[in-house]
Amino acid sequence: MAETINVQLSEGKKTKPTGDLDFGTIFTDHMFMMDYNVNKGWHDPKIIPYEPLSLDPAAIIFHYGQTIFEGLKAYITDDGSVQLFRPEKNFERLNRSSERMSIPKLDEGFALEALKKLINIEKDWVPTQEGTSLYIRPFIIATQPYLGVAPSTDYKFMIILSPVGSYYKEGINPIKIAVENEYVRAVAGGTGEAKTAGNYASSLIAEELMTEGGYAQVLWLDGVEKKYVEEVGSMNVFFKINGEVITPKLNGSILQGVTRDSVIQLLKHWDIPFNEKQISMAEIATAHENGELEEAFGTGTAAVISPVGQLTWNNKDFIINNGDTGQVAKRLYDTLTSIQYGKTDDPFNWIQKVTE
Ligand SMILES: *Cc1c(COP(=O)(O)O)cnc(C)c1O
Repeated sequence: MAETINVQLSEGKKTKPTGDLDFGTIFTDHMFMMDYNVNKGWHDPKIIPYEPLSLDPAAIIFHYGQTIFEGLKAYITDDGSVQLFRPEKNFERLNRSSERMSIPKLDEGFALEALKKLINIEKDWVPTQEGTSLYIRPFIIATQPYLGVAPSTDYKFMIILSPVGSYYKEGINPIKIAVENEYVRAVAGGTGEAKTAGNYASSLIAEELMTEGGYAQVLWLDGVEKKYVEEVGSMNVFFKINGEVITPKLNGSILQGVTRDSVIQLLKHWDIPFNEKQISMAEIATAHENGELEEAFGTGTAAVISPVGQLTWNNKDFIINNGDTGQVAKRLYDTLTSIQYGKTDDPFNWIQKVTE
């Protein structure tokens, strides 16, 4: 797609926030928008002032949830340039999510160019304090007014930006999680591999109950037998058992995290024993009993690495690594964040500069 992006700058500028930033509450001055119609394809790409949308109450998004999203970040380096971490992976995944949800695909290269153009306009919004970043939320919604159950004829692809604070205000901090034995997040054949709204709406009840119990996240088991570990909250999950790092094998219901893939590449690069396989909660319990459960951690764009200090299953509490951050988790966190903020070499060519 060679279409030029129309730019309409906002007249006023919002005041930039100072102090702590709550996740996902503040948005920048502009947003990207592009429309789709079944006869025209994707058209009319534009950067316009951030403002509310006007949609028909019958729009398909409101009734049948035909929508997908992505999440990634822009980071500022010590020399003041802004950069992205493997953004092409997010646009590849956006198209895979679209395919699952019968949404027309985008030109990934064009979408990435549009994002870079938007960030260039909003570069003053990239926060500069240690650990902060500009969170990027690309998404697509079905806008055709129609109550029949069918793929929409019209869509909007949008990108909004939100400055976010450091996930860890007092250093990387282990969380308490509990295994969810009643509700499931996804099943193979369902939509677990897609970043689509319904997966998150249906997980809220479990997260709510867990929070009441003092847990930060839910450890999700497979949706069929409720035996095998899948993910933790909205992160992928890793365990270190007797020297070997293990993550559940992709099976059609696990979201394919960009952080997950980056962690796997680093573990291999460091020659740390690694295995991708189906792993049951019973195996993890046995490993804990035998003193072999050395580490557990979640991986995702928001937290990067989230160590697990306590895991509760059937009223039994497993304390992992004395509740402290493990060595592998720490090394992964330090390496990934150093690459993201341009403090170290980028041996895998993961970084794309947005501004010089
Ligand atoms: C987004 C997400 C992840 C993490 O993906 P990243 O690309 O690493 O941010 C993991 N699990 C679920 C369910 C997610 O929605």
